[in-house]
Amino acid sequence: MSNRIVILGSGESGTGTAMLAKKHGFDVFVSDNGTIAKNYKDELIQLNVEFEEGKHTPELILNATEIIKSPGIADTIPLLVEAKSKGIQISNELEFASRYTKAKIIGITGTNGKTTTTSLVYYLLKNAGMDVAVGGNIGTSMARLLATRDYEYFVLEISSFQLDNFHQFKADIAVLCNITPDHLDRYEYSLQKYIDAKFKITQNQTAQDFFIYCADDELTNKNIINHTIHSQKIAFAYDKPQQIGAYVNNGEMLVNINQKNQNPFTMYINELSLKGRHNAYNSMAAAIIGQVLNIRKETIRESLISFQNVEHRLESVITTGGVEYINDSKATNVNSTWYALESMEKPTVWIAGGVDKGNDYSLLKEMVKEKVRIIVCLGIDNRKLHEAFGSDVDMIVNTTSMAEAVHVAKQLARKGETVLLSPACASFDLFKNYEDRGRQFKKAVKNL
Ligand code: ADP
Repeated sequence: MSNRIVILGSGESGTGTAMLAKKHGFDVFVSDNGTIAKNYKDELIQLNVEFEEGKHTPELILNATEIIKSPGIADTIPLLVEAKSKGIQISNELEFASRYTKAKIIGITGTNGKTTTTSLVYYLLKNAGMDVAVGGNIGTSMARLLATRDYEYFVLEISSFQLDNFHQFKADIAVLCNITPDHLDRYEYSLQKYIDAKFKITQNQTAQDFFIYCADDELTNKNIINHTIHSQKIAFAYDKPQQIGAYVNNGEMLVNINQKNQNPFTMYINELSLKGRHNAYNSMAAAIIGQVLNIRKETIRESLISFQNVEHRLESVITTGGVEYINDSKATNVNSTWYALESMEKPTVWIAGGVDKGNDYSLLKEMVKEKVRIIVCLGIDNRKLHEAFGSDVDMIVNTTSMAEAVHVAKQLARKGETVLLSPACASFDLFKNYEDRGRQFKKAVKNL
């Protein structure tokens, strides 16, 4: 029993881990207390991996050498508390997989912007002709990829839940996009615990490694001094000049990563394919990585111009009747909606609402006054939106389905305006998830 890996949760990362663990000769057991999707079950059977579903049997789990758990499972469940008390190490897929690669790892975390920045950096490295794969929360799991072959670079999207279970994991280049309160239910409602979790992205780094962060982000700035970081720090900011790092001057982004500041990378913000201040941050982070990896300036520029954003993030769906419809369904918290509103250049009909995770809407008040003409609430309980913004806009209406919300928005929007779906809330009152919500929006818009 000395080499028993028990995998809790059998989605993409769990099944990938089973493949990689099997390849390296471990005795593997998979336990999922829900149902395992058919495609993953078929793979486990093919791999000859033992598994159970609909339960976690303690006797089959607590004899593990190491438990690899899905990030969705909290460390505080009794089974894991017991495992820990028995001295069993609890890890996750990325921690496990990173032991089996020689690749340089670029790890990207933050409250918002992870998927966008990860996809952009992957696109940049691909364009530069590098042997690169993308993993973490995106697409195929790192473990599954490594079960087939190794790569020279991995770009990983890393959530704070994943950071919680890192031990030896090290990012050669770590990016912390930003920190704003989110998911506090998983951190005993302690903002400090959530912040400390985010800073774990720098753990095990050495002076040869890099830590890239946003110098405009209040919580990052406040906390960077309390964390011991051994890597080279490179910041990006909007209009705070950075001697080493990136910033924006008169609409031009300047990126410089060496002391001499002889030949910075420059590019006008309005040339970037990703619009909005938040995306300028994401683009600056990518450009810094490009510089660190010695990618040609032309390739960096070309990539930042031609990148197509990931679905459901400020995605322009269609312009019809002089009204542009934008899908930002992924905005599930106040901060990401703030940036979406900030990037609006025309009067906006804002579709908002859903399951409120304790939102503080006062943070959006000024932005709503400036940018929004009408609010279309889409949710079961819209009282907080009415209370927060009722007096700031011309009109605020309630709807209870996407088709209705889009129909109402169309009726109310004037030529030259924008209809923006950026809910600031989770989706599961009326939808399966944010993807379902975004797809329903696009379908309704295309049917207009
Ligand atoms: P994540 O993977 O961290 O959830 P995404 O890239 O999927 O981040 O973006 C989530 C939401 O946050 C989108 O609505 C997007 O427009 C917004 N967003 C993207 N980048 C940033 C950023 N740097 N700061 C704040 N909001 C952002």
